[in-house]
Amino acid sequence: MPIRLLDPDVSSIIAAGEVIDRPASVVKELIENALDAGSTEISVEVQGDGTQSIRVVDNGHGIGSNEVALAFERYATSKLSVARDLDSIRTLGFRGEALPSIAAVSRLSMVTKAGDAPMGVRIELLDGKVTSVNPAGAKTGTVVLVRQLFRNFPARRRFMRTRATEISRIHTIVSRYALAYSTTRFRLVVDEKEALASTGSGNLREAASNVYGRKTSSQMLDLIADDSPTNESVTVDGLIGLPQISKSNRSNISFFTNGRWIQSRMLSYALEQAYQGFMKERRYPTAVINITVPSEEVDVNIHPTKAEVKFRHESSIFSAVQRVVRYTLTSHLPVPEASVPNETQNRNTAFPTSRPFWPVNFKGDELTTLGVGNTVTSHDSNTDLHTPNPNAAIESIPSTPANVLNNLRVLGQIHTTYIVAEGPTGMYLVDQHAAHERVLFEMVCAHAETHSGIVQSLLEPVMVELDSYQHELMSAQSGLIEHIGFRVEPFGDKSYLVRGVPQSLSESDPTLSLTEVLDRMAEGGGFETWQMRAAYSIACHGAIRAGKKLTHQEMSELVNLLEECQQPHTCPHGRPTMIFMGLGHLEREFGRR
Ligand code: ADP
Ligand code: MG
Repeated sequence: MPIRLLDPDVSSIIAAGEVIDRPASVVKELIENALDAGSTEISVEVQGDGTQSIRVVDNGHGIGSNEVALAFERYATSKLSVARDLDSIRTLGFRGEALPSIAAVSRLSMVTKAGDAPMGVRIELLDGKVTSVNPAGAKTGTVVLVRQLFRNFPARRRFMRTRATEISRIHTIVSRYALAYSTTRFRLVVDEKEALASTGSGNLREAASNVYGRKTSSQMLDLIADDSPTNESVTVDGLIGLPQISKSNRSNISFFTNGRWIQSRMLSYALEQAYQGFMKERRYPTAVINITVPSEEVDVNIHPTKAEVKFRHESSIFSAVQRVVRYTLTSHLPVPEASVPNETQNRNTAFPTSRPFWPVNFKGDELTTLGVGNTVTSHDSNTDLHTPNPNAAIESIPSTPANVLNNLRVLGQIHTTYIVAEGPTGMYLVDQHAAHERVLFEMVCAHAETHSGIVQSLLEPVMVELDSYQHELMSAQSGLIEHIGFRVEPFGDKSYLVRGVPQSLSESDPTLSLTEVLDRMAEGGGFETWQMRAAYSIACHGAIRAGKKLTHQEMSELVNLLEECQQPHTCPHGRPTMIFMGLGHLEREFGRR
């Protein structure tokens, strides 16, 4: 076939196919138009699988009769005018594609009346062409009736699923908007039967009750922000389900950004990670999460149906979501309300007299080598870990942490993975790897902050060749890398001499330590600041593994250090460091009460 321009009839169907791929996308676009028009009541009525008819009625500001035909022209929109407007979109629509696309593949009629107009107007279209425009009596607002969807598009009709699937997708769309716009009343009627109705009271829990039922909504927690410093322009709020209302798929997870429902693997991952330890694998929570960011921080123009967005600061959104969810969950964990540790108690006695297994000195002091081997620590009395300043740890972490543990007494280790400990109100199982990760993470954060990483000098420097990515990061973050305890000198091109490594990495190969830490930092692990990325990298690399046998003393030291952490209950990624079994629980289990 020769190359030629497509007939407009064909090209408009192709274009329409991008936006309108199934009945649910008609519902989505019409609801979005109704919301953009400021409606407080939106009703959706569907017949059959949606191809017979979809009717959406709103009480928004309507369209003036002189503009109504224009609204069906491709790229006609009232929502933006210059390219710059794309940088900060506040409306759900902006491309001017929905009405012409729907009209191109259906028989469509619209009755609309603008607020200040005496009379409304009715416009009818068939396969995208206007067949009539007439005055019509109407209330302020808009009624769109779409019949015979895909009448001229048999390929699309063939790809539709069963009626039940199409209706369930429509149900999902209406549900999501009912959750995102809790001040708007939504109603979905399928074949004359009401399938969903929201009250529009503005109360999110009530909207969740309308959508998921009262029982589910009563088992949802309001998201509460922890008080760690965050990017203030981002707020995350909403409701998340208790772990017991888990589902086998992600259908009950909804994310909204500035009122737009979005799909995001990144955000789902953040959410699922935050639930780790609370929920069995391959189970998914119920969650309604609103992320509010300045409109210029998010690009909504990257996906044909606008279902995916791009955040300018993706990792800060990731960590904000994860932190808030995790904090909300851990605030409901059965870990007892704890008291502040007794600061006058001399923790010194808990420290060993030989080289400590755990790096304990939060105030960084450089250690120099004395003995043989690559990794021997010094005996300099001022900097020696053998006589740590008992207040050092307490000083360098802000005092009076919110939820410190009571002093735990270590009983033993099981499966060379978990430490069993006794507390005043029950038994704790501590995951040694997760606990050590938390300890190292907070320690390195403190080091990065105060430029005080403890250095383990190497007897002989080691030459490392970095790849270009590592090299770039090394140059860009050389200060930070030094602050956390590396001593590295450029040695021509991409080679470096490593003269010292952070003490917590002294057990592993220096080359590997540096390259792995750089790689992990680049990856970021969902952390926003470079300091946190560095801390996370060292914690990942340096934390003892499950399967390592620990002495009683090593376990006690680890638990002591964990107790001093600001957030002892979770590893940096939010997995639990410990599980608690209360005395009451034990008594019940043993039938003592
Ligand atoms: P977009 O929403 O991207 O602007 P549409 O094709 O969906 O494009 O709609 C075109 C225009 O028609 C909108 O910009 C708006 O001005 C008007 N419009 C569409 N639906 C409604 C409605 N329900 N109420 C008021 N105005 C509407
Ligand atoms: Mg639109």
